[in-house]
Formats: sequence, structure tokens, C-alpha cells
Amino acid sequence: MSVKTFNALTLLCPLCRVPLDDSIATRCVCPRCARSFPIFHGIPDLRSEPDEYSGEELATLLARFDESSLEDLIRLRLSFNQMPADVADLHLKHELVGNERGAERTEQIVRFAGDAVDFSGIALDIGCGMGGMVHALAQRFAWAVGIDVALPDLIIAQKRCQEAGLDNVTFICASAEALPFADGTFAMMNATDVVEHVPQQRLFLSEGYRVLQPGGYFCFNSPNRYNIFGPEPHVNLWGVGFLPRAWMPAYVKLFKGMGYTGKRLLSYLELRAMLHQTLGADKARNGTASGPSFQILGTAIRASSARKGWKHRLAFRYPFLVDLANRFLKPFVPQYEVVVSKPR
Ligand SMILES: [Zn+2]
Repeated sequence: MSVKTFNALTLLCPLCRVPLDDSIATRCVCPRCARSFPIFHGIPDLRSEPDEYSGEELATLLARFDESSLEDLIRLRLSFNQMPADVADLHLKHELVGNERGAERTEQIVRFAGDAVDFSGIALDIGCGMGGMVHALAQRFAWAVGIDVALPDLIIAQKRCQEAGLDNVTFICASAEALPFADGTFAMMNATDVVEHVPQQRLFLSEGYRVLQPGGYFCFNSPNRYNIFGPEPHVNLWGVGFLPRAWMPAYVKLFKGMGYTGKRLLSYLELRAMLHQTLGADKARNGTASGPSFQILGTAIRASSARKGWKHRLAFRYPFLVDLANRFLKPFVPQYEVVVSKPR
């Protein structure tokens, strides 16, 4: 199965940024560096780093793809992750409502963008996982693309969209820091729960901005390092962000008995500095009067949070408390929504 693309979507070599030769069904080849990228069930693996995922897991998912349902494949994927049954069950439930979560998030980012969204363009979900968001974007936009570094998740995302009869989607295994797309490709871009896991956060931002089309929107959330309303969301432990970064792993190990790697939560000031420096540089380079613009929205209550407790009850009863927290406690709210726009 070859890679499905849209006329305005050209896949580039992530290293050379020249269009790939996709005339062969099983791999894409870069005409400049001659690197060959394999294609799995229509999904090209355009990572520049070698595969760190289990070949056995991938082979099993591919072998059972046609005969299995979406739920079967999700169960199969989770069975490879050797987690306690109750945790696996939570993950399964989370993924089974992936379409609903994707639809909710799509409405939210369209609202952030106001009425200026170009639905005739292509939408991109960075870190798309098992594809709930791409499933929703494909129903609003002419075409939807999902990228992730986890190839097994993309196989499941492909199944999700295939089961739904969507034929305007493309999944690509790629890194957020080396997007295999031409400048100005996307009308709308989303990245949910991604920036805190990306090793080079400025590159994530500048790459995202590069592939955004003029008049387009790039929306991503960023959990706050200095959140005073809840625990660190990945390890469910209070106070992690207030320690020096070098001490965080030992603290998490002490109270949770688990590692703390591959996570770097930004504070409000760090997030703002990153946006100013990365997008400001682009503004200076282009010398345009109306350069990139961005807004950072504080979120005191995350509606989609799995941990619905006293805060949700309080917020439901007294919505003005949420407004107050968003306005006066902005450096300390649980997370931010960032909306970046490119001038026309
Ligand atoms: Zn190349």
C-alpha cells in the first residue's frame, strides 16, 4: 500500500528537505542523500533516528491489521506494554473515547482561531498517537495529517480512520523537530501534550511555525511547571516543578519509585520567552511589520482531566473563581493553551 497524499501535500526528506521519490510502494527514497525510508501499511517512517520500538510488536500489529477491530488492535498494543491490569484498562477507556476527545479538541482550536479558519486546507496533528484528533480534523478539513514518533500507535490510528471510512488522511512517522513538509503547508495545526516531551522545544516551535500557511493557526497546550492547583500530571505527585530540575528525578524516585525522564515542563515565563525569542527571530528575519503573533491562555481547570475532584465541583458551582484564577494567578495555573498565528 503506497502513501496517500493530497495535491498540496509533498513529503520531504527530513534531513535534506527535498521532495522524496514515492514511486515505489514499499519505500520513499531521497534523491539527494539516497536515504531510503520504509513504508508500513501506507505509513512512511521518516524519522532520521533509528527505530527504538519493538519489531515484534509492529509485526504482530501489521499481521493482524485486516482481521482485527480497532478495539482488538488497541488491546493488542497495550498488551505489549506490561502494565498492571487496572492501568491498562484506563488506557483502553481513554483510547476508546479518542474520537470524542478529538472532536472536542477540534472545536476548541477552531474557536481559538475565530472565524478565519481555512477549512479547504490541510490540518496537522503533531504527536497524534492513536489518531482520535486526526479522525476529527478529517471531518472538518479537506485533508488531515497525523505524525508521531511511535509507529505502532500510527498503525492503530490508520485502523481508526479506515473503520470510519475516511479517505482524506495521511499518517507519517516523523519527529516534531524535523517535519518532512514544505514551508506553509498547513492551515491548522495542533499538538496536544507534546511540547513537554520534546527534547528541543525551540525547534518544535520554529519547525511548527515554518510549515504553517499564511493566515494559519498553530495551537498547542503546555502543562505548567509551577502549577499550584494539582500534582505533576505525568507522575501524579505534588511539588515536582518547584524543585531545581536536577533534583526532580530523585524526588520522584523517592515518593513514586519511578523514573522521571523525557519530561520538561515549562513555566509561564519560560514559555513566553521561548515564544518571543523563537518567533521574534522569524519576525526580524523577514523584516515584516506584521510578524508572527501569539497568545498564551491560562487554564485553571482542564475540563478533560481524568482526575475530577473538588476543583471541578467548585468550578462548576462558582465559574467566576476560574476566571479570577486565570487572570490573577496566571503563573500558577495547571496549564496553558498557546495559539500562534502567521500573518497573511
Ligand atoms: Zn535526504
